[in-house]
Amino acid sequence: MARPSRIPRQIVDLMVRGGRHVWTLEQIAEDLAAAGQGADFSSVWRGVERLLGEGRLTRVGLDDGAARYELAEAHHDHVRCLRCHAVAAIPCLLGPGVVAAMEARTGYLIQTHSVVLDGLCPACRGGAAA
Ligand SMILES: [Zn+2]
Ligand SMILES: [Zn+2]
Repeated sequence: MARPSRIPRQIVDLMVRGGRHVWTLEQIAEDLAAAGQGADFSSVWRGVERLLGEGRLTRVGLDDGAARYELAEAHHDHVRCLRCHAVAAIPCLLGPGVVAAMEARTGYLIQTHSVVLDGLCPACRGGAAA
């Protein structure tokens, strides 16, 4: 039986190995199982909550109901496939000049943002053209 204390490290290792850019809880459980590290769903959830609390993971809000998680790293924005829900990282689209200009325009102090570009990933785009 997998010891619960191993799970956070296994989750981080999984994300460092890559294969995806963001993971849902279900995908974390699937990928751990595929690596022979299967764990029950509530243990995966607790592992993710612990890593969030430690600041090692961040929650990616994509506004479609499914919470996704990624390794905490320097700010970047995302591109998403509307058909298969693949997500990839892109460099930040709003330079400091844009943020300052929007602060001047709105009077808001802007502290954070996330930009998501929606479309079709290369695989789905190929399928659409066929
Ligand atoms: Zn990301
Ligand atoms: Zn950005």
